[in-house]
Amino acid sequence: MANLSQTGPSVQAGIKHSIYWRDTEAVEPGPPLSEDVHCDVGIVGGGYTGMWTAYFLKQADPSLSIHIVEMDYAGAGASGHADGFVTPTIGHSLAGLVHGFGTERAKTAYAVVGRSMLELDRFCRKHDVDAELEPNGYFSVATSEAQLRLLRRDVDLAERIGARNSLQLLDREQARERIGSPAIHGAFKVGGALLNPHRLARGLARVVRGMGVHLHEQTLATSVTKENGKHVITTSGGRVVADRLVLGTDAYQHGFRPFRHRVKPVWSYAVVTEPLTDEQLAQVHWPDREGFVEARNFIIFGRFTADNRLLFGGGPAPYFYGRDMAESRHMRRDEATEFLRGALARYFPAWRDLRIAYSYGGCVGMTRDFVPHVGSTEDGVHYAYGYCGNGIALTHTAGKILRDLILERDSTYSNLLFVNRKERRFPVEPLSWVGAKGLTALLAFQDRHPNLIKRQLV
Ligand SMILES: Cc1cc2nc3c(=O)[nH]c(=O)nc-3n(C[C@H](O)[C@H](O)[C@H](O)COP(=O)(O)OP(=O)(O)OC[C@H]3O[C@@H](n4cnc5c(N)ncnc54)[C@H](O)[C@@H]3O)c2cc1C
Repeated sequence: MANLSQTGPSVQAGIKHSIYWRDTEAVEPGPPLSEDVHCDVGIVGGGYTGMWTAYFLKQADPSLSIHIVEMDYAGAGASGHADGFVTPTIGHSLAGLVHGFGTERAKTAYAVVGRSMLELDRFCRKHDVDAELEPNGYFSVATSEAQLRLLRRDVDLAERIGARNSLQLLDREQARERIGSPAIHGAFKVGGALLNPHRLARGLARVVRGMGVHLHEQTLATSVTKENGKHVITTSGGRVVADRLVLGTDAYQHGFRPFRHRVKPVWSYAVVTEPLTDEQLAQVHWPDREGFVEARNFIIFGRFTADNRLLFGGGPAPYFYGRDMAESRHMRRDEATEFLRGALARYFPAWRDLRIAYSYGGCVGMTRDFVPHVGSTEDGVHYAYGYCGNGIALTHTAGKILRDLILERDSTYSNLLFVNRKERRFPVEPLSWVGAKGLTALLAFQDRHPNLIKRQLV
């Protein structure tokens, strides 16, 4: 492949390098915090984690006073960037989870996250949140014999954790009856949904505010400290003094000292086309509009949006030196745009000339062991981060876990496999950057030559 690391003549002009979802609903952030406040629970981060935690706490005890501080607007982080696949996946993969924790614990965790997926749908209907949720699931697909082996392995593992009924391996012809792509060699359907993540975040913000949660947008937490037994969140507009503290900032969590080496922001890119006309839609047989995810280390995935655009995402996921999350430097990545344009053409030759309207990236929080971590430090700080790119359903579960940890309830949630688990740390720079480069190269090599390295690497 040509070196695509620089903008070349092949990069289409007129692409917006901003998040498509943001244009589906305008945001007017609420006012920042402007005075000192005292409360029961202070939360840093107005994404799904922070807001679901507040939601479940208020449900459990409406008398609790809760303040959330969000440096931008609620949903400005990964929650509003996500590609909208509501998946049962915990961490990086089913295989990683079963091998790391054993069948029984994996089974319990999958059952709990499965419940979150159903409850998300119910939440949207109950609260009139128009998250454009399409509960039609998605396909895990293979485009080679080696990927078919991975699908067979996942079907076996799913059987071990009791999800066999929903997973049935389709051969090439059966799979193409569902998604008419000449690239697809086999598939199985996973129960789940597609949604508009930005609208879910904005709807959730409206709901928690309605429950009496104080959500301060445009409020950057500059430090969190402990003074006289209380947690203090310092912001430019005032201090939040709280009995309990939650840090729910996922890929940003490395900004808080105890978590500096526990989570790494890794960039994930997507392209979104112009809306397809009826004529263009008729060129490819895709009757039920399910999404699909290709079974490889650096997954490639595709889905329709509610206004019939095609969203294609995935491919190599870079880590930038020093945990760099600056949108000004990395939101545009022509190399990723061209990779995804190539993937789109491979899957759907009839659509190879569709115009790309948006190309952008966002930061996924990765942990060293490729599973999320939820828990409480010895200092009484409650945390959740590291969803490894599968956080829409999991943050809902994490909200319940944090509720139970804060209310000191011994429950199924507070005993899940990723709760209060000892974790390995990433090394300091430049070792962290070198390590990421090495691992990325190895995983990409395995994707290209699956028969040379058959062992599951992550
Ligand atoms: C590009 C991309 C695609 C994804 N696609 C999917 C998908 O299809 N399916 C899926 O299940 N998951 C997906 N994910 C993962 C999922 O979006 C996340 O796991 C989930 O949204 C994490 O929610 P969160 O609330 O923990 O973090 P965030 O949504 O990132 O929220 C953290 C918030 O904290 C705020 N913050 C940070 N520091 C401070 C501070 N000092 N003071 C105040 N506020 C602060 C940030 O502004 C941010 O709004 C994707 C993620 C990305 C980035």
